[in-house]
Amino acid sequence: MGTARVDTAAELIRVGIYGGTFDPIHIGHLAIAEEARWALALQQVRFVPAAHQPLKGALPGATPAQRLAMIGLACADNPAFVPDDIELRRPPPSYTVETLEHLRARFGSGVELWFIVGADAACDLPRWRRIADVVALARLAIVGRPGHTFDPLAFEQAVPAGAGRYVLLDGPQLDLSSTTIRRRIATGRPVRYLVPEAVRQYITDHGLYREDPGYA
Ligand code: ATP
Ligand code: MG
Repeated sequence: MGTARVDTAAELIRVGIYGGTFDPIHIGHLAIAEEARWALALQQVRFVPAAHQPLKGALPGATPAQRLAMIGLACADNPAFVPDDIELRRPPPSYTVETLEHLRARFGSGVELWFIVGADAACDLPRWRRIADVVALARLAIVGRPGHTFDPLAFEQAVPAGAGRYVLLDGPQLDLSSTTIRRRIATGRPVRYLVPEAVRQYITDHGLYREDPGYA
């Protein structure tokens, strides 16, 4: 009851796993997580910040602990949203397949895992480590993102095991990225209403992103 979070396997049926750098978390992330929760009747969505994104070159602007703290602030008012530091407790790089193996072992075979991914990141799926195991461990919720088109045929050709293991969700199509947030802060522009207010306050209090690390 109340604000208590469901964080055990008891009574869980469908769990969303939402991986990313979250540097910082923004309303685009939250809106697609909510879309997936609603569309797929997920009991919870676990936000899993990567220790280091294998396909991203530069290091993130905020520390892992700061990225996790901002996720915690952003999730505070949604009982279905759960920050999960599973990838921060392993040495980098963070591979999704290892995260899913841990969560599968933890939740057991009765729980359906859904990995939530935006259309841009979904185009990279064929390059992910042990992608056939990824799609065996979890179904994919691929959410539309402005400016990015996911090609299902190309995906199924590259990853035959992925056929029948994903759904496409249109989502709210918010044209917003963490890169935009960092650049706005670095150039003195406001980010109010683009990130939750508590996240904006945290960024200000910790002086984050005043110098844009510049990766896109
Ligand atoms: P960056 O600009 O640093 O890459 P980002 O906004 O893309 O940040 P990530 O942490 O890279 O955020 O993304 C995590 C996941 O969220 C990815 O699957 C990405 O596709 C998805 N995502 C992020 N923003 C959106 C958005 N506005 N619409 C749909 N999907 C999104
Ligand atoms: Mg990104």
